[in-house]
Amino acid sequence: MNRNRARGILLGLACGDALGRPVEFSSAAAIETEHGRLDEMVGHGTWNQPAGTITDDTEQALCIARSLVERQEFDPTDIADRFVAWFDSGPFDIGRMTMRSLSRLKQGDEWDEAGQRVWEDSLEGQNAGNGSVMRCAPLAIPYATDRPRLVAVSRQSSQITHADPRCTYGCAILNLTLAGLLDGANFPLRDALDDVGSEAPAELVAALEPLAGGDAPETLETSGYVVHSLQTALHDGLFAESAEDAIVTAVNRGGDTDTIGAIAGAVAGARFGAAALPDGWLRPIDEADELETLAEQLVESA
Ligand SMILES: [Mg+2]
Repeated sequence: MNRNRARGILLGLACGDALGRPVEFSSAAAIETEHGRLDEMVGHGTWNQPAGTITDDTEQALCIARSLVERQEFDPTDIADRFVAWFDSGPFDIGRMTMRSLSRLKQGDEWDEAGQRVWEDSLEGQNAGNGSVMRCAPLAIPYATDRPRLVAVSRQSSQITHADPRCTYGCAILNLTLAGLLDGANFPLRDALDDVGSEAPAELVAALEPLAGGDAPETLETSGYVVHSLQTALHDGLFAESAEDAIVTAVNRGGDTDTIGAIAGAVAGARFGAAALPDGWLRPIDEADELETLAEQLVESA
């Protein structure tokens, strides 16, 4: 496996998350007014944190990566326990469905019950956020060559907090795409959609099909709805000319900047490799060394 690409997945995710953090919820116009084109790590802003601070996207990806390395297998109970421990640490940024699911887990629900119950209690429009797709990328490394298993573990990792099929299949399609990129595939999203086939929700497939054929949709949305976030992030990650351009483009669209940046960053990192990520972005990210080590260990366990 290409180690530079594997490292790129985890470091790219963190770069997009940290670059987008200070402008989360801002419009594209507001970002331009304040920063011009935001292309370096800045402090303060949304959540008022130092430059290079990661958020829940990378924090939960770290939970998954650490679990995979320590358990040497996909152990959803262990991952759920790590999510709860992170929740107990009082993160400044946490999504609504994640908070509700982790609260249920704390009260004793099994790993595959909490997210399902929260989903059943949620209204359409509030039941399919991007909170599982943003964190699932570490799974793509150890399971890159076992695509049916990669689909299964990606979907299960989503179910811990996000049981909607658009979320579970969103994770599967993203990770199949990343696995294809690790293998140097020419049409990784095409292959991913072919792999999940008609089992994937039609709405999700319809949003991603044009991208798989190389066409950019007329409008790209930046909401936290998983179909929007994944479509926009895959567009930027797969179509940009460089890793830096992919992440900067995603973040400067505004909206759910950290998460769309994180997903686009994982894709672009897999495409261009970690060495393509600017040193000036990685230096202020406290977790960069650990992410790099975890990526190496995930390659070893593949
Ligand atoms: Mg976040």
